[in-house]
Amino acid sequence: MSPKQQDDDEVERNALELVKQAGPKGILQSELWRHLGLNSREGSRVALRLEKKGMVRRNKELNGGRWTYRLYPLESEILDSDRLHWDTLGDCPCFVCGSLSSCGARQLITPNKCDNLSEWIINQVNNRSRIKENAPGETEEAKTTNS
Ligand code: SF4
Repeated sequence: MSPKQQDDDEVERNALELVKQAGPKGILQSELWRHLGLNSREGSRVALRLEKKGMVRRNKELNGGRWTYRLYPLESEILDSDRLHWDTLGDCPCFVCGSLSSCGARQLITPNKCDNLSEWIINQVNNRSRIKENAPGETEEAKTTNS
């Protein structure tokens, strides 16, 4: 993965985290890009990418006499907010595993005892914790409460 792609992925993850934190009231696209330290053009691109990936819904809204968009997390994203990110599922070891066809809940080879899968899940959780820690706008009090 190129450094640019890595940066884009990180910006998307942080943006999605902010949209999820906003919850059902949503967040204005302009607030989002300000929190992320982007300009309006970059912010619009990030919002569009998240919408295309089906992670957020964008509703047009008149705000201060200007048309903008408000971003809402999709219901599945709210439900999954403390689970794994769909956009990182491509790294799951199962997709390239030679034992996939014989792996199952009641088989000799089982996800319940798979070191590769366990390690991958732990990495996902650790990455998620890092994103939460670095989320802009979170107060020290909130960080303490969440940890
Ligand atoms: S759980 Fe483990 S053994 Fe099963 S398919 Fe995934 S990586 Fe392969």
